[in-house]
Amino acid sequence: MFKQIAIVSGKGGTGKTTVTAALTHLFKNNIPVDCDVDASNLFLLFNPKTEKQYDYYGGKKAVIDIGKCSSCGLCAEICRFDAININSGEYSVDNYSCEGCGYCAIRCPEKAIELFESRSGEYYISSYKEGRFIHGELEPGEETSGGLIAGIRKKAIELADKTDYIIIDGSPGIGCPATSSITGVSYVLIVSEPTLSGFHDLKRIMETTEQFRRKYSVAINKYDINTEITEKIEKYCSDKNIKITGKIPFDKTVMKAVQESNSIINYNSPASEAIKKLYKNITEEIK
Ligand code: SF4
Ligand code: SF4
Repeated sequence: MFKQIAIVSGKGGTGKTTVTAALTHLFKNNIPVDCDVDASNLFLLFNPKTEKQYDYYGGKKAVIDIGKCSSCGLCAEICRFDAININSGEYSVDNYSCEGCGYCAIRCPEKAIELFESRSGEYYISSYKEGRFIHGELEPGEETSGGLIAGIRKKAIELADKTDYIIIDGSPGIGCPATSSITGVSYVLIVSEPTLSGFHDLKRIMETTEQFRRKYSVAINKYDINTEITEKIEKYCSDKNIKITGKIPFDKTVMKAVQESNSIINYNSPASEAIKKLYKNITEEIK
């Protein structure tokens, strides 16, 4: 049976995706999954080729049949989301603002409004040089990413019967996309950075992870840019009996690896060594 490992962070920009990409190279026989559908970056490092594409429908939107509309204006008056536009006397629905509540359709005297499933994004099974990769993308302005992430993870599980791990690049933050990335996983790695905001966000994502009762640990990326906050993070985690499984130093080679679309573990560098150590610690943790 495969294990699911989610790599998350309390905010974006902590180096979560770089760490995830490196771990997908180190954990053998895995399926990488990019659940950061609002700012999908893992595919940039993998350069994948799409094999299959699936549409994601995240909810309904209202559509006005102009042929039936008498231009009474009631729908624009009652829509709480200001989703009805009037242009040259013609009424139409702004897809980005419409929440699909259906109230306008109920109230329209001409029965000119219907609700239709709206395509909110897509997800893909792709191939890259080390195997298969599942990823997705939300349409600009769409907010229903939790459902898209659930779809992506379901697809990964369907394909994972002969694999040992599903490695998930989770959505940053503590909202619905982040929790959708954590639900049901075997293990969570939180990637943090030693800044004041990074420490604050780390505490929030730790609290969120604890609510899911998942085993987890913390890695501190660029730990040497502020050793004072790093020590505070270490003490905070120690007080909560949470392991620091990795401390990755600031290393310019990381940027070089990203620019060359390569994994940091393919370079001889301090960050590369630290991530290999992190991998070993995680394998011990999830035994
Ligand atoms: S409520 Fe119906 S008839 Fe009136 S403007 Fe809206 S769509 Fe047209
Ligand atoms: S379905 Fe709801 S949100 Fe959308 S246009 Fe109608 S009243 Fe507004």
